[in-house]
Amino acid sequence: MPAVPFEYAAPATLTEALELLSTRGEDAKPLAGGQSLVPMLTLRLARPAIVVDLDRLRELRTVRRDNGMLEIGALVRHGAIERGEGALGACPLLQEAAPLIGNVRVRALGTIGGSVAHADPAAEFPAVVRALDGTVVAQSARGRREIAAADFFVGILTTALQPGELVVGILLPVPGARTGSAIEEFSRRVGDFAIAAAAAVVELDAAGRVARARVAMAGVGPVPQRLTRVEEALTGETPTGDTIRKALAARPLEIEPDGDVHASAAYRRHLAGVLAARALDRAAARAAGSVGP
Ligand code: FAD
Repeated sequence: MPAVPFEYAAPATLTEALELLSTRGEDAKPLAGGQSLVPMLTLRLARPAIVVDLDRLRELRTVRRDNGMLEIGALVRHGAIERGEGALGACPLLQEAAPLIGNVRVRALGTIGGSVAHADPAAEFPAVVRALDGTVVAQSARGRREIAAADFFVGILTTALQPGELVVGILLPVPGARTGSAIEEFSRRVGDFAIAAAAAVVELDAAGRVARARVAMAGVGPVPQRLTRVEEALTGETPTGDTIRKALAARPLEIEPDGDVHASAAYRRHLAGVLAARALDRAAARAAGSVGP
């Protein structure tokens, strides 16, 4: 099915793009890698009056590491993250997640800004940004603001972005010493969206106990969900297979899985516990230095 006709604009600068988005408001859709938007256009699930192609905005392709933070431009592609190009190698969890996305063609075009703005509940990067306590940097013709990942994802394919606002970058804290991370996912075939995925970060104190644990889930609710009860239960514990599984079993996981043609809600709930345990096992082992990052 062909897309509904739309105007096309390819502004040369961020200022021009923001002016256009501000003038056209909800009639406009930004186009980044096109890996989600183009299928939505051809299926007529999106019917914008104008598509604003961001491809010429070089200012959104930069990566900066400064003061313990990594700032990744919205147009940085999944493939560059997978290869850990330049400073991108400073965030091993993001790098480990990238090859789980689609296939090599999708990763050659898809962008991190597009992934977080699209906010698919099963997508890997939103869960990783949530696990790392990341921040989404948004900009409109009115100015720039930073939105904590906890507040950015508000529902299925829905974010806190206002009409006219673009994601211009993602801010992630660079992991410090005695910190390990890992992502685990289950999908029907390699490259499919996850049925469920767990991204974990573990920081150990000098005695080898958990100073801080973070786990974010994908595919088991409308937004990437942190398992805060598990995180609290693990704090102060020596992370072993046993303590991790006890923390996961102590109270119901804060997830709201739905059943669909791929998996029932009960199966997704079961998977969430298994994947979270495996991700925490590996993150803790990496934090202890027993496995490389
Ligand atoms: P686009 O498709 O260009 O845009 C997506 C949406 O975000 C649109 O609504 C657009 O208007 C908006 N948008 C884009 N950039 C911005 C911005 N900077 N600011 C504000 N709004 C913006 N994803 C996964 O996470 N895991 C997978 O396993 C996976 N498998 C896939 C398999 C296939 C076959 C395909 C085609 C896609 C798959 N994807 C998967 C999706 C892929 O990761 C997309 O690249 C991503 O969801 C969107 O990024 P994009 O740059 O292509 O954005």
